Amino acid sequence: MKKILISACLVGDKVRYDGKGCYTPLIKELLKYYELVPFCPEVEGGLKSPRLRSERRRNEVRNEKLEVITDKFDLGAEKALNICQYLNIKMAILKEDSPSCGVHQIYNGYFQKRKIPGQGWTTELLTKHGIKVISDQEIEDLLKIKEAEEERKEKPLKK
Ligand code: SF4
Repeated sequence: MKKILISACLVGDKVRYDGKGCYTPLIKELLKYYELVPFCPEVEGGLKSPRLRSERRRNEVRNEKLEVITDKFDLGAEKALNICQYLNIKMAILKEDSPSCGVHQIYNGYFQKRKIPGQGWTTELLTKHGIKVISDQEIEDLLKIKEAEEERKEKPLKK
């Protein structure tokens, strides 16, 4: 079974800034096709849960007190990449909107609750190294593709 790196909060680990997880029931479906490797880049980078909210502003990450915490995000992203390379993982499913894991959009960096197009810190590093990253909002599409593949395997083309 292929391995996929997945944001740890999506499997229910209590690693978010607010001390909670955000379990998605689609995890059960994913487990039919993939071995999931849960990972939280912010906790692995040395931040605690709960922690202050943080946002990415271009090439920097700051928390709500406006302290620069980019080094923690660098460490978390590097560890995520190392795990992918060590386990030969080619795909990741990461949580949209997060300053680490956002895939298509993130908060704008000014703590105004406004989202902008952009990638999280870890998403950017994984993508640069050829790892395909999709967001949690794209899991259903991925499952549809997998289901169609399975159906094709079960019904070989008639000659
Ligand atoms: Fe979830 Fe990623 Fe935020 Fe960790 S850094 S809590 S895995 S979205």
